[in-house]
Amino acid sequence: MFLKSLTLKGFKSFADRTHMVFDPGLTVVVGPNGSGKSNVSDAILWVLGEQSAKMLRGQAMEDVVFSGSSARKPVGVAEVTLVLDNADHTLPVDFAEVGITRRMYRSGESEYLINGAPARLMDIQDILHDSGLGKDTHSIISQGKLDSILSSRPEERRALIEEAAGISKHRRRKERSQRKLADMDKNLVRARDVARELNRQLRPLERQVDRAKRYNELDSRLSELTCQLAVDDVRRLQQQWGELQGRSNEAAAAIELAQFRVDEKTRELEKLQSMLEQKGLFVG
Ligand code: ATP
Repeated sequence: MFLKSLTLKGFKSFADRTHMVFDPGLTVVVGPNGSGKSNVSDAILWVLGEQSAKMLRGQAMEDVVFSGSSARKPVGVAEVTLVLDNADHTLPVDFAEVGITRRMYRSGESEYLINGAPARLMDIQDILHDSGLGKDTHSIISQGKLDSILSSRPEERRALIEEAAGISKHRRRKERSQRKLADMDKNLVRARDVARELNRQLRPLERQVDRAKRYNELDSRLSELTCQLAVDDVRRLQQQWGELQGRSNEAAAAIELAQFRVDEKTRELEKLQSMLEQKGLFVG
């Protein structure tokens, strides 16, 4: 793995797009004082995720955006792309080349891209984890830092050695895991509280469920009995109807017979009347 190219646009003194290609081996950037040599290493630090403006020799993060010169107006966005050769797959991704881009607008918004796809800083840190490259891995020693390293106390130097040996990476992982564990503990306590509360609410609910079940049983028994009663009523009414029908038929037959007799008697009466009339005995 090696640094293949660096592209700067709107970053510090690099207002125009500047593309630098680095061959494997040693590359030295030479130039007069104030020509922007340190801005190149600042760009590398920045694209790898540096969050401190001081480490980039500025007051605020916006200081990385080209602020204008006598010949040029300021720009609104700074962008740096660093391309790493990954043919040996040192970085844990399938690409043979990994391009990391950081973009920052003067408004403060910023974004990261990995091979052109939006990414989070954490994704970039994860990719670089075991490569020895990163903002804190001392693969970049900024201006003035070398002296502070050489003159530091043994304990302070220990931090540098640990960083270079990759120990601090594991310490960071451990801290991250511990934070996650602490969060998990909090969630667990909360989950237990919720479970206790639910258990408390469960008892009256169980009683309600029992009551609802009993109600359903009784309700279906009631429907069954109502149905049986209705069937009984229908049967009884059918029987009464049959009896009444019989009595009605008998009464109709009796009426018919009586009518027949009345008619017979009427005819006999008419016959007697006409006989009496003929004999002049009947006075109407
Ligand atoms: P030295 O050799 O003295 O350390 P250098 O070559 O490393 O210098 P840098 O410190 O990288 O130079 O560059 C400083 C230059 O960058 C200054 O001219 C400064 O005006 C310019 N510069 C820094 N930030 C910005 C910015 N945001 N906009 C425009 N120019 C900037």
